Amino acid sequence: MRRRVLIIEDEPDIARLVRTHLNDIGLDADIAEDGMMGLQLFGASEYHLVILDLMLPDTDGLSICRKLREAGGYLPILMLTAKSTELDRVLGLEVGADDYLTKPFSIPELLARIKALFRRVDALSDKQREQSVDEVIRQGDLLINTAQHKVTVQGKEVELTAKEFDLLLFFARHPGRVFSRVQLLDQVWGYNHDGYEHTVNSHINRLRSKIEADPSKPDYILTVWGVGYKFSNELRE
Ligand code: CA
Repeated sequence: MRRRVLIIEDEPDIARLVRTHLNDIGLDADIAEDGMMGLQLFGASEYHLVILDLMLPDTDGLSICRKLREAGGYLPILMLTAKSTELDRVLGLEVGADDYLTKPFSIPELLARIKALFRRVDALSDKQREQSVDEVIRQGDLLINTAQHKVTVQGKEVELTAKEFDLLLFFARHPGRVFSRVQLLDQVWGYNHDGYEHTVNSHINRLRSKIEADPSKPDYILTVWGVGYKFSNELRE
């Protein structure tokens, strides 16, 4: 999906110049010559970024900024200011622009700021996506909460290292499937791992000592002799 930028700027030369360069980097852009028109356009279609001039003929950019914020959602706003004395207000929590440039600004600088804002948006939505696929995996008395990175056995929290957690989660997501030590190294430690097969054994031993009632007779992470390990699929409630 192409991203769409709203430029609220009353100086036509600047507005058009900015639009041309945004188009060049694959962004669509609309121009509003004053605050009123800006709000109208904003209400009529979806924008992913607003470039907002502080000094507009009909109203000042700050009140527009406030109104855009009232719309909710996460919308990056890049403010253009002529006077650096206004910066405190622009960046203040009161208004909440995400970034600003003082005129005259260079186009490469503008584009760099815009890209940085979009990277921030992407990082945020990645996080939200991760959180939305958050799951709680339950197997017998074992509960894995992926959002909170929390594991409980019979309601009691178990402290795991990051790698132990990754290993357990990998198993729990593939109940009943048998994995060799090498496969586990590749899947959990990654292809650039410098681990050895005994790394897997020692992690599994530690994991078992933390989650199994009797580590020598495990309920969850089972040994498949001559092959590797599997996560039990017979305890599901
Ligand atoms: Ca202006």
